[in-house]
Amino acid sequence: PVLRVALMGLGSYATRVAEAMQACQKAKITGLISGTPAKLKTWQGKYNVPDQNCYNYETFDAIRNNPDIDAVYVLTPNALHHDEVIRVAKTGKHVICEKPMGLNAKEGAEMVTACKAAGVKLLVGYRMHFEPNTLEIIRMRNEGAFGKIKFFQGLSGFRIGDPKQWRLNKQLAGGGSLMDIGIYSINGARYMTGEEPLWVTAQETKTDPVKFKDGVDETIQFQLGFPSGAVASCLSTYSMNYLDRFFLDGENGFAELQPATNYGPIKGRTHKGELNYPHIAHQTRQMEEMSDILLAGKQPIVPVDGGEALKDLKIIDAIYQATQTGKKVELSAL
Ligand code: NAD
Repeated sequence: PVLRVALMGLGSYATRVAEAMQACQKAKITGLISGTPAKLKTWQGKYNVPDQNCYNYETFDAIRNNPDIDAVYVLTPNALHHDEVIRVAKTGKHVICEKPMGLNAKEGAEMVTACKAAGVKLLVGYRMHFEPNTLEIIRMRNEGAFGKIKFFQGLSGFRIGDPKQWRLNKQLAGGGSLMDIGIYSINGARYMTGEEPLWVTAQETKTDPVKFKDGVDETIQFQLGFPSGAVASCLSTYSMNYLDRFFLDGENGFAELQPATNYGPIKGRTHKGELNYPHIAHQTRQMEEMSDILLAGKQPIVPVDGGEALKDLKIIDAIYQATQTGKKVELSAL
């Protein structure tokens, strides 16, 4: 079966997803949602989407009556995800939502509840959860190849450009670097160690308060403590380049990914040598796998559902709390 997907929010990431989906066997674009009529026209022509499968932000609730659409992929700015996902859920269609799923754990929990109540599945665009070098490290770790895991380091950052973009607007982004890029280190710390953190400490630094206004974090360093005693040390920033590296250290070995989360090819090595799985566009792989998850009930090795994304949002809440109070935040209720 082929997963028939409507894309919502035809911006730069949607463009990448749409192009990568051209190589999919199990997923295809059958619908479009945009507030810009001219954009709809161009995309319709390019992806062969008929008029009756095109919607705007006022009309998309009518997707409920469209038999050509199985799932809607929400690719809008962060602050819009919550309301849009809940509206899609009410149409009875499955939802795929970009990261961060919502702005905080409260929003995330509401999204998970709404999808459950509507009987639809909610997946989040965690493309690294399908990346083969990453999965090989996870397989080796589960097999005990690294011995007892002691430490994870995650470095996630880039120098952000245009000060007018939504990513630097608290209203649309919900925060700063942590919401956008630091989330990769949060999520990575969890799938690389295979544990859920018990506590968080965090420190924020801001060198440019004009570009990074109140509520928009420029740089945050954070630490996580895990039940086994393993610890993680991570950096999230919008003001430094060349930061895309994961390092996992165990008593008997190590694993490194650099780049760890960019569009690839992802490069990995362990104490046993290089990892050389061939590169396929992450979004192609993701949509093939999500088709199997949504239509065939496949269980991915690393989860990509709303509950998984909610765990990251709880950690984001705790990191922001820790930067404000300077205190260690316990996550034992996670
Ligand atoms: P973008 O600005 O390029 O695209 C956002 C789109 O949303 C635009 O087409 C814009 O017109 C539309 N939009 C709809 N309603 C809007 C409103 N009220 N205000 C502003 N724009 C509105 O951004 P992007 O880089 O494509 O990011 C979109 C989402 O995808 C974000 O949540 C981001 O975190 C996520 N993303 C994920 C990855 C990944 O690798 N998984 C990569 C990039 C972005």
